[in-house]
Amino acid sequence: MSELAICRYCDTVHRRSEVPRRGTPRCVTCDSPLYHRNNDLGAMLAVTLTATIALVVANGFPLITMSVNGLRTEATLWSAILASYDHELPLVAAALAITLIIAPFIELFLLLWVLVPLRAGARPLGFSTIMRAIHIMRPWRMVEVFLLGLVVAVVKLAGLASTVPGWGAFGIVVLTLALASLASFDTSALWRRADQVRA
Ligand SMILES: [Zn+2]
Repeated sequence: MSELAICRYCDTVHRRSEVPRRGTPRCVTCDSPLYHRNNDLGAMLAVTLTATIALVVANGFPLITMSVNGLRTEATLWSAILASYDHELPLVAAALAITLIIAPFIELFLLLWVLVPLRAGARPLGFSTIMRAIHIMRPWRMVEVFLLGLVVAVVKLAGLASTVPGWGAFGIVVLTLALASLASFDTSALWRRADQVRA
């Protein structure tokens, strides 16, 4: 798992020690990029912590504040979910809750569970199971899609009421950037680190 790198385009198997150390590692058969060199666990932990804080902010603060004729209304992530439920859209409410709150929270919690001990030089409890769980959770979060929806909502509502994006929206933006950055890290670095710790 740790020493081999498989090309995801043509399935050629490479030994990491035989891949040239300069530049982006490329497949010898089809020249596609093999893996990222971005494997600094400290940086990965910092980005994970940033994403976690951004997720808490996105959940705890209003996404949009609207004022019409002096009346102020605040829309939060939770009020959006409750409103979908009240409008007899339980599937939409469930999808919002899973993709925006539950899945990102579980994934970030599991990442911290693995990263904190690895940084400290210990093998995390249930390491391989948790790594698989992280892999399974990943497709379930869709914060980026929600960000697009939020931008559209702000632009559309701007014509009807004076609309100000709140701290929650800022949280969603930071969360989207942090999750995109997390995707650029090489998770096989975690496996290699876990093997070193055990040895
Ligand atoms: Zn290839």
